[in-house]
Amino acid sequence: MSSKKVALITGGGSGIGLYTSRQLSKDGWNVSIADVNEKTGNAAADEIGGIFTQVDVTSYQSQAKAFERTWEKWGRIDFVFANAGILDVADFYAISATIPPPEPNLLTSKVCVDGCIYSAHLAMHYFRQNPVKECSLIMTSSASALYEAAILPIYCAAKYAVIGLTRSLGKELKKENIRVNAILPGAVPTNIGLPVKLVELGITPTLPEDKITKPEHIVGAVLELLNDPEAYAVTLEVSAAKRYRRQKPEYP
Ligand code: NAD
Repeated sequence: MSSKKVALITGGGSGIGLYTSRQLSKDGWNVSIADVNEKTGNAAADEIGGIFTQVDVTSYQSQAKAFERTWEKWGRIDFVFANAGILDVADFYAISATIPPPEPNLLTSKVCVDGCIYSAHLAMHYFRQNPVKECSLIMTSSASALYEAAILPIYCAAKYAVIGLTRSLGKELKKENIRVNAILPGAVPTNIGLPVKLVELGITPTLPEDKITKPEHIVGAVLELLNDPEAYAVTLEVSAAKRYRRQKPEYP
């Protein structure tokens, strides 16, 4: 078993996942990157001295391979960051009658919701066998779920579902000392490409500089949840407007 803590990060080849992978590696963690993009995923793993597995998070079997490889390599998994996500152009059907396909394409919710459900299921399985009983799952939701971003109905629905998953699992698994939390980022400059997609649709993005969330604030939010032994079922919004707004459900 590795003496270093081990993190598995979906979507670790780019953006928020990559920023977090770099920080954890600097902090002495072993990092396993699971991403659909072989090129960026491999480059990220090489850069931080981690491992890469090509994974499509919408497939349980595909994700399971990354968990198996990580366990075989290091004999422990202490932290899972279920972070892979996309914005699919089909999500814009609400603002443009001309965008195909006529039947809504649910790729966004498959990646963002099914992906997190599979990650969570696998994380629980490995956390329960972990030699160190302090494990943490963090999922990436979005501040857009809270503000019901009108142009992104499928994305908002998907990210709201991630909040439900976090609260339900967070409450249930606390008794096993497994902490489940979520970050809700505001707009961060990454490859997810909302501005690019809006431009393609003829809409000029109007997000002012002071509304952009800095990547280091997102990583700060991940570390805050990761390092707080009392954080469970917490949703931590981290956006330029409401930096570090923390919410914990009050259970009846
Ligand atoms: P990004 O595009 O830079 O990174 C997303 C990563 O997920 C990419 O490496 C991509 O290859 C990977 N990925 C996509 N589909 C996948 C699949 N099926 N299987 C495995 N990997 C897959 O974007 P990002 O902004 O870093 O996104 C990370 C998370 O943050 C997402 O869940 C996104 O919805 C969320 N988020 C982003 C913003 C933002 O403004 N950038 C805001 C709120 C939430």
